[in-house]
Amino acid sequence: MIPPPFDYVRPSGLPDTLQVLKEREGEAKVLSGGYSLIPLLKLRLAQPTLLVDIRDVGGLDAIVETDDELVVGARATHRRILLDAAVGARYPLLRDAAGGIGDPQVRNWGTIGGSCAHADPSADWPAVLIAARATLVCRSIDGERRIPARDFFVDTFVTAIEPAELLTEVRIPRPRARSGGAYQKIERKAGDFATAAAAVQLRLAADGRIEEAGVGLAALAETQFAATDAERVLTGGMPSEELFRAAGDAAAAQSRPAADTHGPVAYKRAMAAEMTVRALRRAVARALGQA
Ligand SMILES: Cc1cc2nc3c(=O)[nH]c(=O)nc-3n(C[C@H](O)[C@H](O)[C@H](O)COP(=O)(O)OP(=O)(O)OC[C@H]3O[C@@H](n4cnc5c(N)ncnc54)[C@H](O)[C@@H]3O)c2cc1C
Repeated sequence: MIPPPFDYVRPSGLPDTLQVLKEREGEAKVLSGGYSLIPLLKLRLAQPTLLVDIRDVGGLDAIVETDDELVVGARATHRRILLDAAVGARYPLLRDAAGGIGDPQVRNWGTIGGSCAHADPSADWPAVLIAARATLVCRSIDGERRIPARDFFVDTFVTAIEPAELLTEVRIPRPRARSGGAYQKIERKAGDFATAAAAVQLRLAADGRIEEAGVGLAALAETQFAATDAERVLTGGMPSEELFRAAGDAAAAQSRPAADTHGPVAYKRAMAAEMTVRALRRAVARALGQA
């Protein structure tokens, strides 16, 4: 199908972008990588009267690490994140997820900001950001809002972004000593969206117990969510297969998957548990410097 007619602007700076989003509030759509938006336009599921192409807005694709956090610009592509040196050295959770998104073409064009703003319930980044307790930064001409990932993903294709806002960056806390993260995803075939996926970011205490644990699940409910029951099971526990299984069972029980072409509900629940267990094993091994 051919999209309905729309205007197109390609501002070169953030102020111009925010200005036009305010002037055309509710009618404009941001164009980032286009890998989700263009199909929606062609199917006429989205009918904006203006596309605001943000590819020339300087700095939006930067990845900068400070003492406290990794700041990933909304226009950073999946590939850029995958190849980033700081990500490779200290953020294995992000590296795992980036490497499994779509195929090379999708990774070359798709962006973290586009993925989060689109909020497909099977997308990988939202679960990762929930597990890592990241913050998403939205800007409008009226100011800036910092929204915890756990509050950002509201429903299927629904986020906390307001129509006149631009998602500008994602802030991920820098892992401290004895931290480990991992992402485990099962897909029907290479390059597919997840059938079920689990993101884990945890930190061990000096005595080896799990001091802090974040668990985010994808493709297992109407939107990605924190498996808070699993987090409670893990916190204070000594890593073991029994503990991982108990956390996996808690994650499965908190899931609300729908039957679809990826499989029935029982299968997806079983995969919720299994992906959680596998991510926990790998995250703990990484925290111990063994993987
Ligand atoms: C074949 C294929 C396979 C894929 N496989 C996977 C996969 O395995 N895992 C996965 O997670 N994803 C997958 N994707 C999705 C892919 O990662 C998309 O790139 C991503 O979902 C959208 O990113 P984008 O930059 O292309 O955004 P766009 O398509 O440009 O935008 C998507 C939506 O977000 C809005 N938006 C974009 N940027 C901003 C911003 N900065 N502020 C506010 N709103 C914004 C747009 O207006 C639009 O509504 C796949 C896509 C395809 C086509």
